[in-house]
Amino acid sequence: MVVAIPDTMRAMQLAAPAPVAEAPLRLVELPVPQAGLGEVLLKVRACGVCRTDLHILEGELPPHRSPVVPGHQIVGEVAALGLGAELVAPGGEAGAAPLALGDVVGVPWLHHTDETCRFCRSGLENLCEHAAFTGWDVDGGFAEYAVAPAGWVYRLPAGMDDLAAAPLLCAGIIGYRCLRLIGVVGDDAGLPSAAGPAPAPAGEVAPAAGRPAVELAAPRRLAIYGFGSAASLCTQVAIWRGWEVYGIARDEEHRSLARELGAVWAGEAADDPGVLYDAAIVFAPAGELAVDALRHLDKGGIVALGGIYSSPIPAIEYPWIYGERVVRSVANSTRRDARELLRDAALVPVVSRVQEYPLEQANEALLDLKEDRVRGSAVLRVS
Ligand SMILES: [Zn+2]
Ligand SMILES: [Zn+2]
Repeated sequence: MVVAIPDTMRAMQLAAPAPVAEAPLRLVELPVPQAGLGEVLLKVRACGVCRTDLHILEGELPPHRSPVVPGHQIVGEVAALGLGAELVAPGGEAGAAPLALGDVVGVPWLHHTDETCRFCRSGLENLCEHAAFTGWDVDGGFAEYAVAPAGWVYRLPAGMDDLAAAPLLCAGIIGYRCLRLIGVVGDDAGLPSAAGPAPAPAGEVAPAAGRPAVELAAPRRLAIYGFGSAASLCTQVAIWRGWEVYGIARDEEHRSLARELGAVWAGEAADDPGVLYDAAIVFAPAGELAVDALRHLDKGGIVALGGIYSSPIPAIEYPWIYGERVVRSVANSTRRDARELLRDAALVPVVSRVQEYPLEQANEALLDLKEDRVRGSAVLRVS
């Protein structure tokens, strides 16, 4: 079925960074973009709202393009195929069927890379020297239409609700990359817990590709600092993988969410969990939490910093990091992260808790996010 594409669309556009309380996003009428070579035009159904959008609005991330339409967790329906897009495997997955009109796909933060630099050639495209980011370098999904390269969008698991899928596309994927870098998922990680799902029947998505080789000796302990969208999604994957999760948040609403999702303990940073962690992920943009995580970390443990922005990290006493403890940041994600997160999200299955807003209330959604009033993930319903 061919649906007519209008000439113009509604979009929430940022002209200049300003405090979110001043509502810097303005509802504007823009021309519908055209799908270029190898690109697809998407009719946006939903777009997740992320702390990175907040950093773009408020200028902690300097403008890359101005004005810009933010939004980088796009669920959209293919409305038009640019020249050659019908030849491209979506998500960079060898052998994947090319896209057709009407397919529902997701667009994440990493819009595309040069595919040629030394990082891209070694499978670290998340570190590309010439990466372009959705809603920062190119217009994103706080609009009725958006374009993206066919090789950098991802088919969503069959039957997944638009609003539930949106938070997976940044919060979920970045959380998944954090889990990979601390050894919860990936080739060297432990087996999924006994409570995990049975292997998929033949012909369905098989977990074999991600099925790890090593069995855990005992439940391992993962601390997650900042219990927002990414934490709520990756907690479910970590528990599925047999880890115990400890949730650290400054307000009770988020601590109760951690417990509801299966955390064995939830507290504030000042509370004593009574154990040492094998790994920690810090999603909250507060540098002192990296040090707090380190001080509760067992020997050989890893602290992953999952934010694109953080306040400075205070001085670290050498004994806190001695014992082969590691602190590392997590930057963006690879196409493999996106594919495997979407695969595992369907297997677990990961449940998104969504707070829904209409497109024109993007400022309100971001203010709620800033003021810790979002329980789970904020998502704009666009069409
Ligand atoms: Zn590159
Ligand atoms: Zn994001």
